[in-house]
Amino acid sequence: MELRATAQRARRANYSPYSNFMVLAAVETVDGIYGGSNIENVNYTLTKHAEEMAIVAAILGGAGPEGAWVETLYATSASPCGSCRQFTAEFATPETVVLIDRIDQETVRNASLPELSDESIEAWRLGELLPAAFESGELDSTR
Ligand SMILES: [Zn+2]
Repeated sequence: MELRATAQRARRANYSPYSNFMVLAAVETVDGIYGGSNIENVNYTLTKHAEEMAIVAAILGGAGPEGAWVETLYATSASPCGSCRQFTAEFATPETVVLIDRIDQETVRNASLPELSDESIEAWRLGELLPAAFESGELDSTR
């Protein structure tokens, strides 16, 4: 699976010395697949999440900040947090597929992810993970 291979390549960017919890992610857009990895900060609240980093990589790669261009989001080990779900919703639709690869941390850190079986992967729709998302239409009353 190309998403998993891309996420694995993002492992080299991982920086998780405080939690020791590595998350790898990849996002598929209309014109490419981009990887991301969590990057921690001693302050914790400044930590950047893998899913967010994958989307930022896609923007830097030319996806552009506007429009629903996230086709699939892939995340290892844990379900994307609420912040990442909201961040993804900015560039996706409720129908966007979110793949959660529920593999343990030792495997995330050490294994060749593309060689794993796909049996560990759960498929969701973003709308299931983030029903009633806060969307740009919510701000219409201020315009
Ligand atoms: Zn997150």
